[in-house]
Amino acid sequence: MDATRLIKPLLDKEYPMISHGDGIYLYDTNGKRYIDGSSGAITASIGHGVKEIIEEIEKQANKISFVYRSQFTSEPAEKLAKKLSDLAKGGEYWSFFVNSGSEATETAMKIAIQHWQEKGIKGKNKILSRWMSYHGITIGALSMSGHTGRRARFVPLLEDFPTIQPPYCFRCPFNATYPACNHMCATELEQAINRIGADHIAAFIAEPIIGAAGGAIVPPPGYYQVIKEICKKHNILFIADEVMTGMGRTGKMFALEHWDTHADIIALGKGMSAGYTPIAATLVSEKVMEPIQKGSKLIMSGHTYSANPQSTAVALAVVSYIETHNLVEKSAKNGKYLNTKLEELQKKHPIIGDVRGKGLMCGIEFVSDMITKFPFKKEIDLTSLVVSQGQNNGLLLYPAAAGIEGVGGDAILVAPPLTITTQQIDELIELLDQTFEDVEAELQKKGIIST
Ligand code: PLP
Repeated sequence: MDATRLIKPLLDKEYPMISHGDGIYLYDTNGKRYIDGSSGAITASIGHGVKEIIEEIEKQANKISFVYRSQFTSEPAEKLAKKLSDLAKGGEYWSFFVNSGSEATETAMKIAIQHWQEKGIKGKNKILSRWMSYHGITIGALSMSGHTGRRARFVPLLEDFPTIQPPYCFRCPFNATYPACNHMCATELEQAINRIGADHIAAFIAEPIIGAAGGAIVPPPGYYQVIKEICKKHNILFIADEVMTGMGRTGKMFALEHWDTHADIIALGKGMSAGYTPIAATLVSEKVMEPIQKGSKLIMSGHTYSANPQSTAVALAVVSYIETHNLVEKSAKNGKYLNTKLEELQKKHPIIGDVRGKGLMCGIEFVSDMITKFPFKKEIDLTSLVVSQGQNNGLLLYPAAAGIEGVGGDAILVAPPLTITTQQIDELIELLDQTFEDVEAELQKKGIIST
């Protein structure tokens, strides 16, 4: 084959070439089979090669693929916006369609700022966020992201939005224990608001369950209720970044439902099209829209491909598939099964420090010592070792940052398609068990862990 000109994540790595996919399985051009244990980047929620979606792709393409949003609306775009509004609990939501999760959170940020401007309140321009968070790679989204590794190269260009500690009970930043802690990680938001001044703050953004930056960190019960109260008290909007957690991934349609609360603005992506087309969305509550409707009547954002009929038709078919196949309920039920199996692995493998998550968004954090919970040294890069050994063994896993941010810490996400059966979970667990055995053997050989 000619020398590659494709920029891939690692320029000096050889990547297998994909041939096709079927359900939870992927096949490369050498005929090797992989279990998609991470749904790609927690995206392929309904599995690969789903006939109904492929048919919808063709059906819509035969009608119209693209029109520009300032010239036309389309039936699939209208229907998808209505469907998402119906699915989001807590009132009516308007949808602004974009192409990626980064654009969805960045649009959320811009709409939050515009909301206050249209109310005649100038100066509310900051978006507060948490350390150990990821909201996307564009400059605005990265400014909100408390992901030290991904920020590092661009720090001089970024706003310093990450302000408060994450709700990370496994390594509580306050050395406290739930419930005696009284949600210190949530009440810290009020301290931050008081220090900065609510007059400068448009919104607070958080991933309901921390994904890439934490390995499925689930905040304790009551956490988001406290956050929501603080936001309300100080006239600050609450943005839920459900790009990874949305559309059934955690066993609820939207992960914030686990805390019985709602956001003013919701960012969606990934699972909303399950990888069948690039599309994402910013859902804006009626309350946030109101001053804009009465004011300029124009949201200052937009992308050429926003709300194109092709992508919206595909996403609509995916959402309908999620509903008709009860994938939200399946995610809750099979997620419990997967979690139990992961806990069994934890008993067997000393490198597993914590197993956590909700629904089919499970996380495993690694430790070099179970008692002290010390992470492995950064140079060992345990996460990459696990992920690449998994891939060698035919199991795809998603790398996550965790532990002591920027200094050390390893985690993975196990998040197969929501269509996975219990039998297939057993198959996944077998490969994961083998992967941990292989990695532990390697660590022993290098004298990093003892036998
Ligand atoms: N928000 C969250 C919570 C994410 O996990 C991601 C991607 O992993 C993004 C935003 C950015 O999405 P995208 O990669 O589609 O731009």
